[in-house]
Amino acid sequence: MEKRSLVCPYCHGNMREGYVNTLDVYWIPKGYNPRPWYPKDKSKGFSLRRYGIKKPFHTVAVDADFCPTCNKVIIDCNIPESEDL
Ligand SMILES: [Zn+2]
Repeated sequence: MEKRSLVCPYCHGNMREGYVNTLDVYWIPKGYNPRPWYPKDKSKGFSLRRYGIKKPFHTVAVDADFCPTCNKVIIDCNIPESEDL
């Protein structure tokens, strides 16, 4: 996997490498409502969940870097469709 940039795009300071630990997080475009499913092209939103085979309801860790100066988190949305969790 490609190494993430740890430079904040807002203030150009150093970001802290980390992750978001969650059962599920959705990104939904402005003007859209949550849906029971999302198209693969992410046009109507998408889930950051990694669907596991062995542990379907296990919490997941999504790569996310935090800028302590701007108080912002940047989340890597390149999520595999499924993993053998
Ligand atoms: Zn920043």
